[in-house]
Amino acid sequence: MRSNNVVLINEEGLRVDGRRPNEMRPFKIIAGYLSNADGSAYIELGRNKIVAAVYGPREVHPKYLALPHRATVRCRYSMAPFSVEERKSPGRSRREIELSKVIREALEPAIFVEEYPRTVIDIFIQVLEADGGTRTASITAASVALADAGIPMRDLVAAIAVGKASDTLLLDLNGIEDQYGDGDMPIAIMPRYNLVTLFQADGIFAPEEIEEALKMAREAIYKLYEGQKEALKRKYLKIREEVLSSE
Ligand code: ADP
Repeated sequence: MRSNNVVLINEEGLRVDGRRPNEMRPFKIIAGYLSNADGSAYIELGRNKIVAAVYGPREVHPKYLALPHRATVRCRYSMAPFSVEERKSPGRSRREIELSKVIREALEPAIFVEEYPRTVIDIFIQVLEADGGTRTASITAASVALADAGIPMRDLVAAIAVGKASDTLLLDLNGIEDQYGDGDMPIAIMPRYNLVTLFQADGIFAPEEIEEALKMAREAIYKLYEGQKEALKRKYLKIREEVLSSE
């Protein structure tokens, strides 16, 4: 089957990387990946490699930017020049500015911002290697970094994209599928409240496709959510072991 003249699903119904349509890529999450940030996380999702670092809540500079009733959340998503096949210009692109905003908006509902008036929480995201779905993987990693920084949260946020090629919904698009497919729907959810905090759609989707895509995304998001919690537990178990062995 062809989509935009590139074969994305073969005759056996398998995708370019051998996955079935409703199969996500393998992933790995590490909490507390960096030693110099207040909180951090690393995620690998297929060939994506992303680091998230969090600072705060801390004093805002310049001070007039401080909000009297809540913390300000800032997010900076950047792709390293070596993260894609052809060297990316290190300058800030429109896409990076847009994704920074989208990621911040997907994370903000999970943070108890009202508990930290006049402060700022900074989230830095560095994409080391990109292969489709970096905004959603960044959200998954950044929410672990926020929790790792000890910032009170209603829940973690996990995210995944669902796309489409040859009228078939595909879970967790890779770079080629993103480039040549017929659509892309990044979705973020706070699992405990079943609350969607990001829903974008690029391409044309029928209402029943959107419903099916949400179902596929939800299943994958619950797996990522388990991975996020495991990563946080692993970090604190390690600290506990270190403390116990030093006593
Ligand atoms: P997302 O990474 O969230 O899917 P996009 O849909 O904008 O966001 O990008 C899809 C993919 O296209 C990226 O994951 C990356 O693999 C690739 N890509 C993005 N920007 C560039 C770039 N400047 N050069 C080469 N590839 C890029």
